[in-house]
Amino acid sequence: MRACTVTPGKPSTASVEEIAEPSAEFGEVLVQGLLVGVCGTDVEITSAGYGWPPPGHQRIVLFHESLGRVLDAPAGSGFAAGDLVVGIVRRPDPEPCPPCRDDHWDFCRNGKYTERGIKELDGFGAEQWRAPAKYLVKVDQSVGELGVLTEPTSVVAKAWDYTEQLGRRTTWEPQRVLVTGAGPIGLLAAMIGVQKGHEVHVLDRVTSGIKPELVQQVGATYHSSAPAELGFAPDAVIECTGVGTLVFDLVSRLAPNGVMCLTGISTGQHALDVDESALNKQLVLSNGVVFGSVNAGRQHYAQATDYLRAADHDWLARLVTRRVPMAEWPTALERAPDDVKVVVDLTA
Ligand SMILES: [Zn+2]
Repeated sequence: MRACTVTPGKPSTASVEEIAEPSAEFGEVLVQGLLVGVCGTDVEITSAGYGWPPPGHQRIVLFHESLGRVLDAPAGSGFAAGDLVVGIVRRPDPEPCPPCRDDHWDFCRNGKYTERGIKELDGFGAEQWRAPAKYLVKVDQSVGELGVLTEPTSVVAKAWDYTEQLGRRTTWEPQRVLVTGAGPIGLLAAMIGVQKGHEVHVLDRVTSGIKPELVQQVGATYHSSAPAELGFAPDAVIECTGVGTLVFDLVSRLAPNGVMCLTGISTGQHALDVDESALNKQLVLSNGVVFGSVNAGRQHYAQATDYLRAADHDWLARLVTRRVPMAEWPTALERAPDDVKVVVDLTA
C-alpha cells in the first residue's frame, strides 16, 4: 500500500512509498485512509527535524489529523464496516505515569507517551491503517469529509472545557470572549464560543482575505487592531498564536476572574521586557488564571464530533481551502497566502 513518508528534517525524502499493510498488532479495526489534514507540526517534522520515527525506522508515516472509513472491525468493538472514524493521536506511555494509567494521556507526566505521525508511531497518511477500537472516534455521517477537522477541534474542545472549569470557581457568566489568531485552531475556537452563546471576538493581523470573512460568517467580530484598542476586557481568552508579546499584553487586559488558555507555541526566541511584579499583582488582585493546554483526551474528541455536527457545514467546508492528491502531498506543506486548512486526499 502507498503511504506518505519522510525522514524527519530531510524534506527531499518526502515521498509516496510502498510499505507493508498494517498488521493486526496495531489494532483490531482496519481503516481505509480517506483524508489527512496538514498542520504546522507536519511542516516542522519534515523541514526542521521535529518528530521521532518508529523504532527501527529512519522514516515516519506522516500526518496525525485523520479521517477514514472502517473496512473491518470485530463484532462487539462498537464499530462496523462503513463507519467514518478519526484516530486518536496520543497513546499512554508504557510505564505508565498516574495520568496515563487513568487514560489521561494528554496529561502524561514523564514524556514517554507516543503519538501517531509525530512520536514513535506511524501516522495516518496511508491507504490503510489500523487502531484499537479504544483509540477511534466515530464521525457523524452528516459531517462526512469535514470529520477531518475533528483532531484540531478536539484541541480547542479541551481548551474550552478547562477554561470553563476554571471560570466556574465562581459565578461564570462570560460577557465577551477573545480568540487570538484566525488560523484553523482560532476559527474552530471561535465556532465553539459562538455555539456556547458567547459574544466572540477574534484578533488577527491580516486585514483582508478569507480569515476576516470566516470570522464574520461564524457569527464573531473580527479585529486587526492592537489589543489596547479592543475596547473591552475579555472574560476568557483562547490564545492561538503563541506570540509571547501578545500573551503578556493580554494578561493585563483580562476582566476580573478572567481565564486565559494558551494553545499556541511561538518559534521566536527574543527576550520579553515584562514587568513581573505588575503581572503578579494583576493576576492576584483579579483572580486571574493563565494556563496551557496541549493535545486532547478521548472526551474532547467526543465533544469535537458534537461541535462539528452542530456547526454550519457550509462554513466548515470553507475552512478546507486546498485539497492535494496523495501523490503530490509534499506540496501540501507549502503555505499559500489564503490557506486555512489544507488536506491530502489519500484516495486520489
Ligand atoms: Zn504518562
